[in-house]
Amino acid sequence: EEINLSTLMNKIVDSFEPMILNKNITLNKNISDSIAIIGDKEHFNRIFSNIISNAYKYTNENGKISVILKQSFNKVTVIVEDTGIGIPKEDIKLVFERFYRSDLSRNRGTGGTGIGLTITKSLVEANNGKISIQSEVGKGTKVICDFPII
Ligand code: ATP
Ligand code: MG
Repeated sequence: EEINLSTLMNKIVDSFEPMILNKNITLNKNISDSIAIIGDKEHFNRIFSNIISNAYKYTNENGKISVILKQSFNKVTVIVEDTGIGIPKEDIKLVFERFYRSDLSRNRGTGGTGIGLTITKSLVEANNGKISIQSEVGKGTKVICDFPII
């Protein structure tokens, strides 16, 4: 199935916007036009809803969330970056494991089962993509997804 990822990303971000602004978080959207990709639309919906909902959940008031969609010659990249609580270095490799939640998020009182990123990673890979995370405690988190252009 060919998907217009630009349209889809705009829709997803717009659906989170009221909630994000309500928490007084700044939302930056930099979504290139007309990026097409082959994959499952419902999968992409879940992938980016999960990632953006994490950014929302783990970012404090007055923080910032940026969503970027861009294309280079052979791939499409989506970056969701936040200025939230971050993930301890030794925990980054664990967050894709089922039920894993870092102490920082468990102590926070925001609910969650620790399954979101497990599902997200399997859906990214089911669509031939790759997901990686860069993060620094107290500074923020950057989630990067790459998909090949077919
Ligand atoms: P849910 O199953 O409801 O998504 P969850 O958000 O705790 O629960 P995951 O989405 O799998 O589970 O994330 C796993 C853990 O990774 C989180 O508990 C949190 O510790 C960490 N994490 C994920 N995204 C972020 C983020 N943007 N900023 C800080 N920590 C994050
Ligand atoms: Mg989550």
